[in-house]
Amino acid sequence: MRSEVGTVPPIFAELVGQEDAVATLSRAVAAAGVIVQGGVPEAGMTHAWLFTGPPGSGRSVAARIFAAALQCPDGGCGVCTACHTTLGGTHADVRFVVPEGLSIAVGEMRALVLRAASSPTQGRWQVLLVEDADRLTEAAGNALLKAIEEPPPRTVFLLCTPSTHPDDISVTIRSRCRVVPLRQPPADAIAGLLRRRDGLDEQTAAWAAAAAQGHVGRARRLARDPQARARREAVLAVPRRLTGIGAAFDAAAALIEAAEAEAAASVLETDAAERAALETALGAGGTGKGAAGAARGSAGQLKDLERRQKSRATRTQRDALDRALVDLAGFYRDVLVHTFGAGVEPVHGDTDELAGAAAQKWAPESTLRRLESVLECRVAIEANVKPRIAVEAMMLALWRG
Ligand SMILES: [Zn+2]
Repeated sequence: MRSEVGTVPPIFAELVGQEDAVATLSRAVAAAGVIVQGGVPEAGMTHAWLFTGPPGSGRSVAARIFAAALQCPDGGCGVCTACHTTLGGTHADVRFVVPEGLSIAVGEMRALVLRAASSPTQGRWQVLLVEDADRLTEAAGNALLKAIEEPPPRTVFLLCTPSTHPDDISVTIRSRCRVVPLRQPPADAIAGLLRRRDGLDEQTAAWAAAAAQGHVGRARRLARDPQARARREAVLAVPRRLTGIGAAFDAAAALIEAAEAEAAASVLETDAAERAALETALGAGGTGKGAAGAARGSAGQLKDLERRQKSRATRTQRDALDRALVDLAGFYRDVLVHTFGAGVEPVHGDTDELAGAAAQKWAPESTLRRLESVLECRVAIEANVKPRIAVEAMMLALWRG
């Protein structure tokens, strides 16, 4: 079944709470289908896209799904080979940009751009997907910009950044892209996905969706993984464990370790699935003409995948630490709600009693200073202060009050 304007391809069902983005992307997929068949669409398709949104909103998931829908002969069925290989990262015409260290090297970008300019081998689109476009060096950004300015007819560029701020993406690249803003999905949309896709009961789904504060992947882990729940509890236990300087340093170390464990757990599944998909794809091409060349190429592809996974792990660690800080900030916010009798829902229902007790003990200014120190820690880490130093400074401030 070909997707027409106004219908949503099945593959977009994962993007919960993103109705605007899904509508835009569905129209583009329909228009792209018309182009592939040699026609001229009225509107909707463009060569460069910029996916923006906070961590957990699913910007790279959205870009990947869009790439799959473009490659799918049915416009995003979610079950065919084109859909599967794109989602698994092995489609021959979908290239992922691998950030090297902290930024994407210019040489690598030039090679990728060159490759993206060739005709699609499977007749639809050449897609270049840059997951962390905010980490482009200026030179790499310029190499990309040139390609975006004069895009080959069947090439599509998909860039992902946290925002459209000039710190994240250069103004000139941004001006060439259609922006797809993703928002933090509401808790009830996440709960619905957990029930539908993961078969969770209503109560668990609702609790996990609320506790995850808008992060789909985290909600799923909180619902299914007792260790993820334990890590969250440990973060929320920090305020009552700060009994002295030694305890403050211990709490800092524990918080960072918890974030590392959280990140490791969150990439484990994806990494294994990607590797299995790549090995299947490589194994399938292992006989007949050109098999020797394929074998030579396959070692490189595996290495490529490992590099991509490693860089994603670093990124995920930072995101996990940030989420732990957001959880912690939520606790101090709940204390303030009690202090001022604001009568709004707590962020953390399960530690609300403790928040109430803290409100009796702490002066309002002192609670506010604590909340501010958590938020300052987030800003410092975002500005590349070493996480351990930023977290230790925060813990000391939390202890002092
Ligand atoms: Zn498909």
